[in-house]
Amino acid sequence: MARGISDRRVIDAMLKIPRHIFVQEAFAAQAYSDSPLPIGEKQTISQPYMVALMTELLSLDGSEKVLEIGTGSGYQTAILATLADRVYSAERIRPLALRARKCLDSLKLFNVMLRINDNEGSPIGWEDEAPFDAIIVTAGAPDVPAILTDQLAPGGRLVIPVGSDSEQQLLKITKNDQGELERFASVGCRFVPLIGRQGWQA
Ligand code: SAM
Repeated sequence: MARGISDRRVIDAMLKIPRHIFVQEAFAAQAYSDSPLPIGEKQTISQPYMVALMTELLSLDGSEKVLEIGTGSGYQTAILATLADRVYSAERIRPLALRARKCLDSLKLFNVMLRINDNEGSPIGWEDEAPFDAIIVTAGAPDVPAILTDQLAPGGRLVIPVGSDSEQQLLKITKNDQGELERFASVGCRFVPLIGRQGWQA
């Protein structure tokens, strides 16, 4: 794959999961272009390159319990479900979560648990199911939410876009066995805002 994705498992998962079923019919012809596309509700399906890069940064070997914040279309969720043991994915917009569930079921990806966090006051994440070996946030945050690093297991990885509401940097945060956090800055990116406490206001 172009632009430096080298994890063979990630490339194979990207080749295996059909992206066209996750986009709206009107955009089906563009489903295999390397760009984000509208999915309704003012949200987007992520650019395939960004999905591959974020997944590679999680360093999954197939044994992990993964948390995803921002199910959106369910496309990134499907890639994660192919590469990890279990995926817990939270979405705040009900119609998107319901459509994603149908797409994931049609691919028989039954190792995905979906949760609808549409209560404005609900905390980000899935505290009842923590800790997670890997956490991916597919929406941009003003800073790294402590509520999410608290849900990381020792050795766990968090991948999250952090910055302003219009431009972010992709960060990989690793929690070592002593519970200390190490930060690695990857590429610049542009995601829709992460909404909620420790995110942006709706
Ligand atoms: N990765 C997804 C895909 O490939 O379709 C794209 C996700 S879209 C860029 C970001 C999603 O995050 C939106 O669907 C938005 O509703 C959701 N979101 C924003 N804040 C959230 C929160 N606090 N909890 C759960 N989902 C949230």
